[in-house]
Amino acid sequence: MSNAQIGICKLCGTKAKLTYEHVPPKKAYNTNRFYIFPSDSSIDDPFLKNPRGRPEQGGIGYYSLCETCNNNTGGWYGNAYIEFVNQAVYRLRLADAQYVNGDPYIIHPLKVIKQIMSFFVTLGSINYSENFPDLTEFVLNKSSRILPPNYQVFMYYNDSSNYRYMADNFVYDKGIIQNYSEIAHFPFGFLLSFKKTDVPIDNRLVDITSWKNYPFERKNIRLSIPAVKLPVELAMFPGDYRTREEIETTIKESTERFGTR
Ligand SMILES: [Zn+2]
Repeated sequence: MSNAQIGICKLCGTKAKLTYEHVPPKKAYNTNRFYIFPSDSSIDDPFLKNPRGRPEQGGIGYYSLCETCNNNTGGWYGNAYIEFVNQAVYRLRLADAQYVNGDPYIIHPLKVIKQIMSFFVTLGSINYSENFPDLTEFVLNKSSRILPPNYQVFMYYNDSSNYRYMADNFVYDKGIIQNYSEIAHFPFGFLLSFKKTDVPIDNRLVDITSWKNYPFERKNIRLSIPAVKLPVELAMFPGDYRTREEIETTIKESTERFGTR
């Protein structure tokens, strides 16, 4: 984790020493131990109860950005995101669903959505500066409100210690091919869809794409966010919000029908 690597920065495209970028920022409850799962982990152990991956200390992150981009995104958007997280945790800890859904947040929506987009760039399995230059430009130009309508961002609450980091997935669902990335880490989950679709990935997700339209100069925007808590049980299945009981029932039924898994 401490070894510096030379590579292409996924945000600006420069060849440089890549630095460790926490996703989300450390101060957003990202300091704990985590596991990097081998890609076949979930075949025999869908809930990853006995992770075979290597435990890592100090919070989830990636060597994806150069030092300049790491510092810039942190400096421009980090605090706005951490404030958003703190307000969410306060609401979730009150354990009052009405309060969670009803009272407005006071946040800087443009900075928050840019921070979320920088998470997705950092997580990406491909170089975004090359493949999605309109998205990286939106992050690199802090006051830009230009983000093409094919990108849609959704959120929910992940009120658990489970996490899910899945980049650039193609999922065949409801008759169409969806293309999206997902980050779930307490207290939020975010899903980025790369192409606009009329078929919602899940009706319970709240579309926050319009946060890109708020002016950079205006902070302390009051915003009601009708997000709900969703379960994140399967680390490796993006867009799956079934409860543990629902998943266990499905596994049991398929075992009964088809024999052993
Ligand atoms: Zn860079």
